[in-house]
Amino acid sequence: MAKILVVEDNEDILNLVKIILEVNNYEVLSAPDGYEAIKLMECMPDLVLLDIMMPGMSGWEVLDIIRSKKEWKNTPVIALTALAQEKDIEIGVKKHVDDYIIKPFEKKELLDKINRVLEEYKLNEQ
Ligand SMILES: [Mg+2]
Repeated sequence: MAKILVVEDNEDILNLVKIILEVNNYEVLSAPDGYEAIKLMECMPDLVLLDIMMPGMSGWEVLDIIRSKKEWKNTPVIALTALAQEKDIEIGVKKHVDDYIIKPFEKKELLDKINRVLEEYKLNEQ
């Protein structure tokens, strides 16, 4: 069972994503902010679903910390963003996110993207 860390400051979205993933047999760790997310990285999730716009520590800052740690840097990250702006996509390419999910999203899109990224990492490990 893949373990997914969901980082999202909006409680409704966090709960929705958590339910969707749990129903689909994923183990879910959830963090309402970047600080909690960094703590939960110690549990070595298989994938991180990372909201970008968060008060305190932004998703980009969380991503920088993930990418700077030897044990974490190869963890796949999908950015969860309401901003479909070119600037965000540019930053994401530079910082190496594996995919984007633009809010509001469809359940199918969320699951498809997670499955695809996990599948790619499995293939790369072999
Ligand atoms: Mg947010």
